[in-house]
Amino acid sequence: MALTAMSIYKNLPKTNCKDCGFPTCMAFAMQVAAKQKELTACPHLSEQAKGEFSEASAPPMKLVRVGGAGAEGFEIGQETVMFRHEEKFHHAPAIAVKIAAALSDGDAAARLDAINKAQWVRVGQQLGVRAAALELDGLPADKAAARAKALAASSRVPFILMAKDAGVMGAAVGAIAGKRPLIYQASATNADAFIKLALGHKCPLAITADSLESLADLAKTAKDRGVSDLVLSLDAKNPAKTLRQLAIARRAALKKSFRALGFPAMVDASLDNPARETVMASAFAAKYAGIVIVNGLEASELLPILTTIQNVYTDPQVPNIVETKLYEIGSTTPDSPVLFTTNFSLTYFCVAGEVERSKIPAFICVVDSGGLGVLNAYAGDKISPEKVVKTLEAQKVPDRVKHRRLIIPGLLPSFRSEIEETSVWKQVLIGPENASGIPAFLKQHGKQ
Ligand code: SF4
Repeated sequence: MALTAMSIYKNLPKTNCKDCGFPTCMAFAMQVAAKQKELTACPHLSEQAKGEFSEASAPPMKLVRVGGAGAEGFEIGQETVMFRHEEKFHHAPAIAVKIAAALSDGDAAARLDAINKAQWVRVGQQLGVRAAALELDGLPADKAAARAKALAASSRVPFILMAKDAGVMGAAVGAIAGKRPLIYQASATNADAFIKLALGHKCPLAITADSLESLADLAKTAKDRGVSDLVLSLDAKNPAKTLRQLAIARRAALKKSFRALGFPAMVDASLDNPARETVMASAFAAKYAGIVIVNGLEASELLPILTTIQNVYTDPQVPNIVETKLYEIGSTTPDSPVLFTTNFSLTYFCVAGEVERSKIPAFICVVDSGGLGVLNAYAGDKISPEKVVKTLEAQKVPDRVKHRRLIIPGLLPSFRSEIEETSVWKQVLIGPENASGIPAFLKQHGKQ
């Protein structure tokens, strides 16, 4: 039964108390109808309404949190579409880096330190490793517990505890249960003990099986026993098969409402070949893993994966723009050079990053191009010399600098004469076509 917002609303208390985080009961009902919230998020629901509507109104894919509240953890799942253009993807996959059991305590701590530092800013967003996958098999239980406890104390990210032995896993989970690690992974051989651990410590549980059918059976068993924060774990021995299984599981959950596979998925993509690992991890993250485990910790290995995730999980319904205003890069003075660019985020951050790299403080006037890059904005008539001049005036740029030199994008050479003829900007310099040429250009032309 597809529930409408109105049918859900009729069964809510209608007090608009906001305890669910929404301003009104109707706003909450609309989120439930859109499968973005679970009905149980309203703490004042009658038992009768819970019984009647909970199952039907539950999102087709469970939202699962790994780690503590706030920035100490991350959420995966609760996706609603197969393809991004149908709406958007909601929870970007987390990249987890493995810490091998064979490492000494000192080397394990050094690797965690590198994981903590594996963060970059791209297009104004913070990207980085979001989990540490701690291998424990082979360690005695007391040593596994001590290592988990010691590393967790200085970790920026939550943990995925990797062990097959229930005794080892139990000791490690017990040591850091408050940090809500992901227990990885229950299989046919250890499911009973691992389900008990997940229940006892209130931690999410990854489950695995030889086939999707067996995985669905195991999910149902775990759920019936009270563990609902599940992650479907697939191996990457046969990448083509893994990608097929990821797509089949997602389609079964979203299109067929098959609840037993309605959980986020994860793949251990760790390989000894860094290039192959990067390619495979990017593919799994794009379709449709919620967590991908890798070995690589170099920027050259992680950034391609993180960039893929950033691109795929950008909301296509929201223009990717920055605020239209005058930006100051570095300690500007009235002699600093002035550039202009468009308000497309990628364009702006490329230009700003290169200006920063030049170490020459500069003003960047951002012109409203409707979120388009330079050439598209020009082709679509979203930017013109007149608009540039008006924007410079509106942002009071002539008052900020003593000179009248303006650096324009190299892709818009035709703007030069009109700007020089119609404005105070009497010296217009045609900059480089690519942002990468900005540092050299500023070194040559940017100083007075
Ligand atoms: S918590 Fe329940 S009663 Fe309160 S506003 Fe939300 S839906 Fe309405």
